[in-house]
Amino acid sequence: MRIDKMLANLGYGSRKEVKQLLKSGAVRVDDVIVKDPKTHVDEKNQTVTLNGEVIEYKEFIYLMMNKPPGVLSATEDNSCETVIDLLELEDQVYEPFPVGRLDKDTEGLLLITNDGQLAHRLLSPKKHVPKTYFAVIDREVTEEDVKAFSKGVTLDDGYETKPGELKILKSGIRSDIELTITEGKFHQVKRMFEAVGKRVVYLKRMTMGPLPLDETLELGEYRELTDEEVELLR
Ligand code: URA
Repeated sequence: MRIDKMLANLGYGSRKEVKQLLKSGAVRVDDVIVKDPKTHVDEKNQTVTLNGEVIEYKEFIYLMMNKPPGVLSATEDNSCETVIDLLELEDQVYEPFPVGRLDKDTEGLLLITNDGQLAHRLLSPKKHVPKTYFAVIDREVTEEDVKAFSKGVTLDDGYETKPGELKILKSGIRSDIELTITEGKFHQVKRMFEAVGKRVVYLKRMTMGPLPLDETLELGEYRELTDEEVELLR
């Protein structure tokens, strides 16, 4: 890859600004000052430094966000803040996008990446990637609901869902539950409860496949996945 493209991709400025940076002698490849923007670098095997600091090049970025309510799972929107708007500018350089959607009022685990293949695999209906949600329901959730969900329920448009694993954490006039589903239909959790005459009043995604939400992340915070976590998702 050309050195000017690499530096621009990493957010060190426009191609023009990067050219100036190179001209100033601040950039070295394997300890040799490189001033020509057309210079090719083997980004995997050569060491690039800027003012002595090693620059790590990566093609893909993998982030886990604890999505806050009131923010859209989209890359851009004219009127509403998106999860991408919440990222630091240097992360936005990678042009990441959310892996699937959480409703505007839903919180919790949202993966954000620019790795289209990984996103496709995680979202493919054929892969049945399980997702676990914590929810508060507006009334008593019963063993009958657990049984109904284990067989699959019929949504408002006639769609028969795949079985879902419903666990009652606390039952009462409001109930706390955990639901694991392997599909991602529009508003699926809310519509599954509507199918049994109940309403979701709070919804938070806790896991996606083998990956749990890092509970140390405050709402709106995010972090990069570790290499091990990325491997788990592959
Ligand atoms: N199911 C829903 O109803 N909403 C979400 O945001 C995710 C799953």
